[in-house]
This record gives sequence, C-alpha cells and structure tokens, in this order.
Amino acid sequence: MKHSEHMDSKQIDQPVEVHLQHPLFQNALASIDEGARIINCDPNVITRLKRPKRCIAVSVPVRMDDYTVKVFTGYRVQYNSTLGPYKGGIRYHQNVDMGEVVGLACLMTIKNSVMGLPYGGGKGGITVDPTKLSRTEKQNLTRRFTSEIGPFIGPNKDIPAPDVGTDSQTMAWMMDTYSQETGYSQPGVVTGKPIEIGGSLGRTGATGLGAVYVAEKAFEKIGKTLKGATIAIQGFGNVGSHAALYAFERGAKVIAVSDVSGGIFNGDGLNIPQLMEYIKTNKIVKGFPQSQEISNEDLLLLACDALFPCALEGVIDNHNAEKIKAKMIIEGANGPVTNDATKTLHKKGVFIIPDVIANGGGVVVSYFEWVQDIMSFFWDEDEINKRLQSIIVKAFETGYKMSQEKNIDMRAAAMAVAVQRLEKAMLLRGLYPR
Ligand code: NAD
Repeated sequence: MKHSEHMDSKQIDQPVEVHLQHPLFQNALASIDEGARIINCDPNVITRLKRPKRCIAVSVPVRMDDYTVKVFTGYRVQYNSTLGPYKGGIRYHQNVDMGEVVGLACLMTIKNSVMGLPYGGGKGGITVDPTKLSRTEKQNLTRRFTSEIGPFIGPNKDIPAPDVGTDSQTMAWMMDTYSQETGYSQPGVVTGKPIEIGGSLGRTGATGLGAVYVAEKAFEKIGKTLKGATIAIQGFGNVGSHAALYAFERGAKVIAVSDVSGGIFNGDGLNIPQLMEYIKTNKIVKGFPQSQEISNEDLLLLACDALFPCALEGVIDNHNAEKIKAKMIIEGANGPVTNDATKTLHKKGVFIIPDVIANGGGVVVSYFEWVQDIMSFFWDEDEINKRLQSIIVKAFETGYKMSQEKNIDMRAAAMAVAVQRLEKAMLLRGLYPR
C-alpha cells in the first residue's frame, strides 16, 4: 500500500492492519529485521516484537472558546513492556494518526532498550494543530485526553513525556489531571515537568549534552579529540543549540549552524554563547555579526570533523550522501540520515552515531526525573550530568563493540544490541499463559 492511500484512511475504525502499513512503522520493522539477523534472534521473539501490544484510540470532546464543542482523536500506543513500564512522548500535530504513533512507539522500544533503561516503549498523540488553539482550549484538550487514557497510564504502567507540539506546561496539566482523578499527587506519571512540581534539573539541555558526550567518545575511537575539532550543526533549537554550546565549552570550533531561516558560517569558529544571546532578541541565527550566510543544504556538505543534524528527519539521503565531506555524523534529530544513505556513508568511511544512541540523553534524564519523583529525593545538576554521561557512554561503547565484532555500521549495531536485550528478557519472562 502506498503512503498516500494510507493517509486517506486515518479513521480510527480501520482494521489495525491498515495502520500497520504506515511507512514510519515499516522502516522501523526493517531495522528490527536487520538487528535480528545479526544476532540470529529467536523467530518467535521477532514475531512478537513486530506487533504493538496495545493501541488505544480515544475521542476527546473539548469546549472551544466560542462555546461550540469539537471532538478530537487521541492515541496512546503501548508497544512493548518486556523491560518495564511504557515510556514515550505525546505529540500534538495535525498529521498524527494511529500508524505514525505505532511507528514512534516501536522506535521508543528500541531506544529504551539500547540505552539500557528499565522501560518498554510507548507513544501518544492527538490529531490537532496546537498553534490554532488558545491556552484554555489546549488545557481543556490535554485534561480530557489525560482522563480518557487515565486507566492505562500511571507511574508503574506508562509514563508520557513532551514531544512535538507539547511542553512542560502540557505535562503539568497531565500530572494535575491524573492526580485529581486518583486522589493524591502523583508526579511520577509524566516526565518533562516544570522543576517546581517534580521536574529534574538538567532536562532542558540533556539531549544536546548527551550528543556531545557521545561525540567525545566517538572522536577518541578515531584517535582525535573534540577539543579543536571543526563542527557543523543543522538546527539551532533545543537539541542543536545545547549541542553547540557544550561542544564550544569543550574547545570545539563550531564553524556553522542553521535554523529554518538558513545558516551562518565562520571558518574560525562562531562564538556560541554570544549567538545564544543574539537569538534571544533576533529569534533567528541569520545576521549574526562576523559570519557569512550559508544554505541548509550547503551546511550539510561542509568539510568538517563532525556534522550534527539536529533539525528534521531525512535530510541526508541518497541524493546528497555521496557529497558529504564530514568525517563523522552525530544524529541529534530523529532519523536525519536514511537507511540507504547510512549504507552509502558507511562505505565511504563516515562514522555515523545513530539517533537511538546520540539523542538518548533526553529519555535518560526523563528516567532520572521519574526515579527522583518516586524517591521524593532530588539530585543536583552535577550528579545528573555525571549519571547521564555514564549511561550514554555505556550505550555507545556497547554499540561500538558490536559494530567492531560484526563489522557493521553503528545503526545496525544499535539495532542488534536493542533486539538482543529484548530477546533475552522475553525468553526469560516466557509467553503467558504458555
Ligand atoms: P526545536 O523545535 O527546538 O528545534 C528545531 C530546530 O530545527 C529549529 O532551530 C528550527 O528552526 C530548525 N529547523 C526547522 N526546520 C528546518 C529546516 N527545514 N532546515 C533547517 N533547520 C530547520 O526541536 P528540538 O527539540 O531541538 O528537536 C530537534 C530534533 O531532535 C527532532 O527530530 C526531535 O524529534 C529530536 N529530538 C529531540 C529531543 C529533545 O529532547 N528535544 C530528544 C530526542 C530527539
């Protein structure tokens, strides 16, 4: 089935098989197959791993500001809970449908496994353009959605977090609604909350910092250091700007960055703290003093030691893979390098650190937030960053070892590691009832 055919069939009354044709999910399944082949995975385990455990669709009626009532559709997919409670974000976007949420929940299962976290994988979302909602409408939508999925979530069952179109305020409303309905305060039901109600220090910069910890290790493997290395970063949002700042602080030369408006370049290195101040007032990187303009496409093709794509998926595919001159690619965004381009670049000798490892810092610090909420005991930021480094470097080293032993690229290696951990746990737990 073609994607366009799938997109026409968003209704929740379609048979589940229709949703499972979504290209994002099909790509994830192809990666699972590759990982499974590498470790010679038990076929019964693969069969189970290729289906979501539970797909929930709910109607979410909301009173709008003009007093009319609109009914939105919300989803929560609980893909696999072998390793622990389901964990994954909630997305508010007009293109959200069941198939996309299944695909994202599958990828969370893989990411949580490769990061070594005690979590299964889940994801949720509502088909809505959040930019068209007032604050009151967004709050009403969030509270009713939380109530509808309430029986299925909880600190020991399924722990949502922010994703595209949702933020710490959305999580505060979710936490409050769940707590009101269960009768007592339950901060551990979601992560990515504001600090004042049980959020964690270090969460905001965690993904960018994690990517930099991974880059330091990757440079070590090729006999170089991050200090003095030339770096280009596509995307200057949460992930890209923090990766730029932490790399700058460690002595890297950030020669180019970009956002949706285009990019800027300075061969001697951009002053990132000054740039962060600049965008507070100017909003976009364009026009920053002592820099030349560069297009997003040309930024990707710069000769540099490491390229961090931190904006969108699919920006490096077979149309530009041959032209990439970076020695290393650290995937800050989800899916910026396609599977085909990964193979092309690997043959060219480009060292790619895949998203499931490189941007895992966010979910790791979400895990710390959950642990701190359960203990009601909060760590300082140094403690959090030290623990983040230890977990993400371990995930990198495990993937690297697999890639060396099997002579494969790091993406295939990460999939193999993830599937292997799931296989061991699934075989130990067995199949209920038998
Ligand atoms: P963000 O919205 O804060 O930033 C996105 C950046 O990309 C912005 O600078 C935006 O201007 C830029 N951008 C948008 N369209 C672009 C285009 N066409 N060309 C170049 N730049 C463009 O988002 P974020 O939270 O930084 O997330 C970025 C990516 O990282 C996404 O793929 C996201 O799924 C992934 N990710 C984020 C986290 C996290 O903790 N924030 C964790 C894991 C993965």
